[in-house]
Amino acid sequence: MDLGLRERAYLVTGASSGVGLATARLLLDEGCSLAVCARDGDRLARELGPDGDRLVTTAADVLDPEAVARLTDAARRRFGRLDGVVNNAGGSLMAPWPDTTRTQWREELELKLFSVLNTVEATLPLLSASDAGAVVNVNAILARQPEPRLAATSAARAALLNLTRTLADDLGPRGIRVNSVCLGLIDTGQWRRRHEAEGGALDYTRWSARLAADRGIPLGRLGTAEEVAFPIASLLSPRSAYITGATVDVGGGVGRYV
Ligand code: NDP
Repeated sequence: MDLGLRERAYLVTGASSGVGLATARLLLDEGCSLAVCARDGDRLARELGPDGDRLVTTAADVLDPEAVARLTDAARRRFGRLDGVVNNAGGSLMAPWPDTTRTQWREELELKLFSVLNTVEATLPLLSASDAGAVVNVNAILARQPEPRLAATSAARAALLNLTRTLADDLGPRGIRVNSVCLGLIDTGQWRRRHEAEGGALDYTRWSARLAADRGIPLGRLGTAEEVAFPIASLLSPRSAYITGATVDVGGGVGRYV
């Protein structure tokens, strides 16, 4: 099926690894133009290749509104348009609430909220001019199913889910759709780093299989970044023109709410 993305332009944050990288590769394969960022610009260029007619890479921290504005401006100058944004950059803080400092609480909230507010504010004029403006916020099933070992991240994810709904209400009349993709456990750099940090006896394959069993994932395994990229691309697609304010879970069934 043609998703209708060809010759459209998108901005993807956190595109040097995991879900962001898989999404960027899928959108490039679909014939889109892309403006992408991560803090480490060298790794970004290594993963996605040199800038060209359809690719603008910028080293930018999504928490820096001026850097996000520069990225947006580079996209406008190169492509003359932006049809959507994938707010993917981020990470998580593994800590129960009594071990979480006030600074960490603030940093988690700041990362989850301002990473989205900064890009939406910067790109709004371009998204408004598109005939198919769309924002996809990469979130976590933790937003609705908090985990005590990820206290601040769970709360910040819930705040982002709430904000996404507000943005959908507010931007719908301008023709911009805003949706969430909520992840369960996806096999990316995040989990590889955690495995290394634990320095345990199990190799990664066995460690991740045990993780999936411990978390009771009905499909019995972690997901792949590519399995997240497709639902993101499909929510960006103009074929999803009547979907806004929605949440798509990509978690192999780990979300136990109804
Ligand atoms: P990875 O760690 O593999 O990749 C994260 C990407 O984001 C990298 O490109 C990183 O590059 C970039 N990044 C991080 N912070 C910033 C920042 N402040 N500004 C710009 N870029 C940034 O993560 P995943 O692919 O696993 O995760 C993608 C998203 O999905 C994240 O928001 C994550 O929290 C969320 N998620 C992931 C889950 C999982 O199981 N993998 C589960 C639930 C949610 P650099 O370091 O160079 O900036």
